[in-house]
Amino acid sequence: MDKLADFKKFVRRDVPLAMHTWFQLGGPAEYFAEPRSREELASLLKRCREEELRVRVIGFGSNLLISDEGVSGVVVRLTAPEFMGIRTENGVIRAGGGAKLGRVVTTSVHEGLAGLEGLIGIPGTVGGAIQGNTGTNHGDIGEQVLRLTVAGMDGKIDALDREQISFGHRTSTLDDMIVLEAEFQFTPEDPVELSKRMQKLWIMRKATQPIAMNCAGRLFADPRGRHAGDVIAQAGLKGTRIGGAVISERSPNFVIIEPECTAADVHRLIEIVREQVAERTDTDLELQLECWP
Ligand SMILES: Cc1cc2nc3c(=O)[nH]c(=O)nc-3n(C[C@H](O)[C@H](O)[C@H](O)COP(=O)(O)OP(=O)(O)OC[C@H]3O[C@@H](n4cnc5c(N)ncnc54)[C@H](O)[C@@H]3O)c2cc1C
Repeated sequence: MDKLADFKKFVRRDVPLAMHTWFQLGGPAEYFAEPRSREELASLLKRCREEELRVRVIGFGSNLLISDEGVSGVVVRLTAPEFMGIRTENGVIRAGGGAKLGRVVTTSVHEGLAGLEGLIGIPGTVGGAIQGNTGTNHGDIGEQVLRLTVAGMDGKIDALDREQISFGHRTSTLDDMIVLEAEFQFTPEDPVELSKRMQKLWIMRKATQPIAMNCAGRLFADPRGRHAGDVIAQAGLKGTRIGGAVISERSPNFVIIEPECTAADVHRLIEIVREQVAERTDTDLELQLECWP
């Protein structure tokens, strides 16, 4: 019997996930849910708990490697207008968990609100970025978070103040929560100056990362004080290939996904890079990419 038959208005079965990820790789989700409201999400989560179905949330899929076999349980995506809005009020921006991070960044810059401009060019949603405390050496998203509205896996919706959340290097205490909305605080600045700064950061990012290619993804977190790409280059691994997965020559912390690539190729390439880097440079690279399952 279909455990989620009552939710068929917004839940589908056996939905391929590849098209929802940056890498365009990965098999299907047993269930794929796009709730239209907080109430629908809450009742789905309660049912999943009763039925012992594992729930995962996917944003833009820009930090995910999903296995070729796909995932069991439910994958939730926040695509309804209720989860996508962006509003500015008295110097605070309120954005839905499914809103595009890039739109929040450009909105803040146009309004003369400084703090998120360093994230220009990073693909993803607000929820995905907050969950992993996305950032660069110009700052992390967590520094600007004022308040969050989250759903627990029991379907309970709560508001969390800044003091109730901890952000670390590419981590947060938000595992097992779905970010529904975030409020960001800023420092007021001249919009023209801020816009110039954002453009410079954008140019620097384009010069160092293959971001124009939807088929290139970032692999490892930067070890403290160094760039993961420099360590991979030092180990002589630029251009290493497994099947259709290749370490970028220009930006060695990026994998280029060729048309015939599988998730298994990327997994194998990651293993080889970690092993060789440890052996040749005595550095443990920590995978930034999250693997499902
Ligand atoms: C070209 C490129 C450049 C990148 N550059 C950077 C960089 O400079 N710095 C950096 O830190 N990262 C970078 N990344 C990684 C990635 O873009 C970020 O981690 C991004 O914030 C992930 O957001 P997402 O919506 O795509 O999340 P996804 O990849 O969909 O999911 C990532 C995690 O977030 C969780 N999640 C998604 N939505 C929610 C939600 N609403 N509530 C709670 N959890 C949620 C997922 O369950 C998963 O655990 C880069 C990636 C690419 C492909």
